[in-house]
Amino acid sequence: MILFLGAPGSGKGTQSSRLSAQLGIPCLSTGDMLRGEAKRNTARGRKLRGILASGSLVDDSLVCAAVDARLRRELPGNGIILDGFPRTVAQANSLDSTLSDLGMGGPLVLHLDVPRERIVSRLTSRRLCPTCGTIFNLKSRPSWLGSYCENDGALLMQREDDTEAVILRRLKEFDRACAPLIKYYSRANYYRLDGDGDSESVSAALLAIVGRTAGRAAA
Ligand code: AMP
Repeated sequence: MILFLGAPGSGKGTQSSRLSAQLGIPCLSTGDMLRGEAKRNTARGRKLRGILASGSLVDDSLVCAAVDARLRRELPGNGIILDGFPRTVAQANSLDSTLSDLGMGGPLVLHLDVPRERIVSRLTSRRLCPTCGTIFNLKSRPSWLGSYCENDGALLMQREDDTEAVILRRLKEFDRACAPLIKYYSRANYYRLDGDGDSESVSAALLAIVGRTAGRAAA
């Protein structure tokens, strides 16, 4: 199992979905999962909408239960890539107990590091296709069709939490949780890489790490 750590805007979404296509294994983004739930017109949907719009983290218990259910269903097949989970040490503990119940080893942890000053600019220029989920960027990865998705022609959207005030709150949440998580995974299969290059080079570096660690596991 592979998981991505990194600040909002570090490229976790782009790189995890690319790796998922390259390796042919599913990717679970907890952000996408929660945004899907938040669209529902239920009390829980409305509560989630408020939390996501504020940039704070959703309760550990809710996220852990949802991820645990997905892992039990999907992990024993081909493995899975996690984007945005765990975000706290409590979530990392929950993940470990799910993996141990399933008789699986610890995850390969890929940490994308991007300088803080680049993050805000990346996030405010990020655009998302609401239909196919492709992530574009007005500066570094514009759609060939301008404001429309080059895959399916849908009008691109800006995420509600990609505004400067909410970005600062999300970064604060990340800073609070990041050091304890790095410490948690320091003795695991943990790799920290520069996520600030062009996305093809980052992608190649990630694939090389996955290849090396898979080779070691098979040896
Ligand atoms: P992301 O798409 O990963 O940037 O996540 C968007 C938002 O979803 C975050 O700001 C949180 O509110 C929520 N979220 C995503 N993953 C988690 C998680 N593992 N734990 C708690 N909240 C999460």
